[in-house]
Amino acid sequence: MSATVNALLREDLRDFAGYKSARSEALAGSVWLNANESAWANGSDADGRLRRYPQPQPEALCARLAALYDVAPAQLLVGRGSDEGIDLLLRAFCMPGRGAIVTAPPVFGMYAVCARLHGAKIVEVPLREAEAGLCADLPAMGDAALASAAPLLFLCSPGNPSGELLELDAIAALARRLRGRCLVIVDEAYIEYADAPSATRLLEQHDNIAVLRTLSKAHALAAARVGCVLGNPQLIAALRRVQAPYPLPQPVVDAALAALAPSALALTRSRMAAVREARARLADGLRMLPQVRRVYPSAGNFLLVRFADVDAAFAALLSAGVVVRDMRAMAQLGDALRITVGSMEECRRVLAALEAARMEVAA
Ligand SMILES: *Cc1c(COP(=O)(O)O)cnc(C)c1O
Repeated sequence: MSATVNALLREDLRDFAGYKSARSEALAGSVWLNANESAWANGSDADGRLRRYPQPQPEALCARLAALYDVAPAQLLVGRGSDEGIDLLLRAFCMPGRGAIVTAPPVFGMYAVCARLHGAKIVEVPLREAEAGLCADLPAMGDAALASAAPLLFLCSPGNPSGELLELDAIAALARRLRGRCLVIVDEAYIEYADAPSATRLLEQHDNIAVLRTLSKAHALAAARVGCVLGNPQLIAALRRVQAPYPLPQPVVDAALAALAPSALALTRSRMAAVREARARLADGLRMLPQVRRVYPSAGNFLLVRFADVDAAFAALLSAGVVVRDMRAMAQLGDALRITVGSMEECRRVLAALEAARMEVAA
C-alpha cells in the first residue's frame, strides 16, 4: 500500500467510486445492449469503428505506453495530454478552495492555472540565477511544502522555459524528505530531448513520486492530446476515479498506436538526435550575436535567450515572419524570449533575422 496516497488523498473522496460506465463493467456477451449506442454505424463510418463508446483506458495503447516508459500497466494512467494529468492530481489531492501546490517559477503555466481554477493556493519558490543557468532550489521547495502542508509539488525536468535538467539523486532526496507528506510530480514533457534517464526509475523506491509524460513533443502528436501519469498503482487507481469516463476518442487511440509502432519509434529517436544537433548550432549562432546577452543551456527542444534589447529582437523576428514565445511578462524574464528548435532551415531563419537587425543598428 502507498502510505503517501492514503495520507494525502482528499478525505471526502476516499470512498468515491467515480462514474461506472457501461464499458468499465466486466461483462461478457455477444449482443451489447447496455450503453444505448446505435445499432447501426454512421453513414460516414464505413467499418463502424466509431459506433461504440471507446475503452476508458484502451488496453493495447496502455500496454504499448507502459512498455515505452518501462513501467507496469497498473502504474500508468493515459488521458488527454499531460495537462489532464495535472488537473486530475489537483482534483484528487486538493479540496476545492483549500490545499496548496508548490512550484518554481518561471515555469510551465498549467500548474498555476489548474490550481487557480480549483481554488488551491500557489506557493512559489522562484528559480535562482546561477552559473549553470536558471536553477530550481529543491531543498527550499521542500521547506515550502512542509511549511504550507501542500500535498503537491511540481518539478519540471527539463524545465520549461529554464531548460534545466534535474539530477535524479536530488529528486530522490526531496521525495525521501517529503514521504507521507507531499507528492513530488516530475513533469518530463521534454525528457526525450535530454538523452537522460527518466524519474520513472525512482517509482519503485518512492511512493510519493509521480511522473508526467506526453506524446505531444518528442512524438510529434500534439494535436492528438495524449499524455500519461506514471506512479504507484494506488495513485493511478485514485486518479482513474476522478477522470472523465472516456478520455480518449477512438481515432486518437488509433493514431497513438500507429505513432508508437517500432518503425515510428525509430524515426522519433533519430529526430531527437537531429534536434540536439540543431539546438547546439542554434545556441552557437545566437551566442555570436552582439545583442544576445545569454543563451541558457537547454535539455529541451527550445532555447531561453536574454537580449540587450528584447523588444527590438522580438520585432525583428516577427517582421521576418518568425514567431517565438514572448517571455517578457514573466517574472525574472523581462528581457527573454523562448525559441523552439525548429528544422535547420527554421533555425537559419531565426539567425538571419537577428543578424539583419544587428546590421540595421550598426548602419
Ligand atoms: C508542452 C508541455 C506540456 C503539455 O503536454 P500535453 O501532453 O500536450 O498536455 C506539459 N508540461 C510541460 C512542461 C510542457 O511544456
